[in-house]
Amino acid sequence: MSYTHNIARRGLHKEIRKAIAEAEQAGLRVVTFSGHTWGQVECPCGQHIKIYSTGRNPEFGAKLIHGFIRRRRDHRSTP
Ligand SMILES: [Zn+2]
Repeated sequence: MSYTHNIARRGLHKEIRKAIAEAEQAGLRVVTFSGHTWGQVECPCGQHIKIYSTGRNPEFGAKLIHGFIRRRRDHRSTP
């Protein structure tokens, strides 16, 4: 975690920020990129989902992250 990471998060839609916070609470890692893709949520098993900061439908992006969190719970015991 870096300060830059937290500042970058301010540019995100609030639903996306909430989804990212829930991902972290679920034990997933959030990494940030520079460029069109804001970052991604990563599971220790290797799966990940991209986070876009400029999408037309941030609520849908947040739903995708929530779905990833739910699936992560399902595949926690699977390598
Ligand atoms: Zn996983």
